[in-house]
Amino acid sequence: MNWKGHVTLGIIMGLPFISSPEQIFLVVAGALYPDLDHDVKSEIVNRGLYIAGGFLALLVLSYLFKPAFFNLDYFIAAILTALIYAVPYYADHRGLTHTFIAMILGSLALGYIILKLSILSPIIACIIALIMVTNDKLLAKTISIAVASWIVFYFLIPPVLNLQGLSHFAVPIFVGYLSHIVGDCVTPMGCKALYPLKRTLRRPEALIMGVFWLLAVIYVHRFL
Ligand SMILES: [Zn+2]
Repeated sequence: MNWKGHVTLGIIMGLPFISSPEQIFLVVAGALYPDLDHDVKSEIVNRGLYIAGGFLALLVLSYLFKPAFFNLDYFIAAILTALIYAVPYYADHRGLTHTFIAMILGSLALGYIILKLSILSPIIACIIALIMVTNDKLLAKTISIAVASWIVFYFLIPPVLNLQGLSHFAVPIFVGYLSHIVGDCVTPMGCKALYPLKRTLRRPEALIMGVFWLLAVIYVHRFL
């Protein structure tokens, strides 16, 4: 599935789980992240590794020479950023980033980074999440699609979830990520999402995930 398909499916599956406009950027970031393992995305991954390395170096230097400037939360966020890019850097295409383990750990890691950045501004932090997984061209297109779809959805079905803290950032990424795995399972190649099990998930499993998603949507909008 190409980026347009992943962004579209991500927005469809993610919108029922967000309550705040900036979260749509997280949904799209989650939907695009797994394909950073593709060779054509290596510029994004290399850029991310350089930035993460730069932050880490600065934090280590501040710890050594200016301890008052050192911040443990940002240090953890910098390490997680390096890991977020190291995984697709080393993974084969449709390898580790296309697994449920990566979906859970990746959503929590990216969610934590964005939570820490949100102290400055939640909207800017969520746009940074999208910048982290896109190049200039893709960013311009996805931002406008994401904003337009959130506005339309807001008037059709008002949001009901009101997540706080880490879940406010991690849940939209998680749903976007799930949509990517579902999207790849319906392609002929399928997706080995159950790693370390070798089973390849295909359309029937995608359908099962779709049913779980629908049940979750009904639960959220009926009972919360
Ligand atoms: Zn993929």
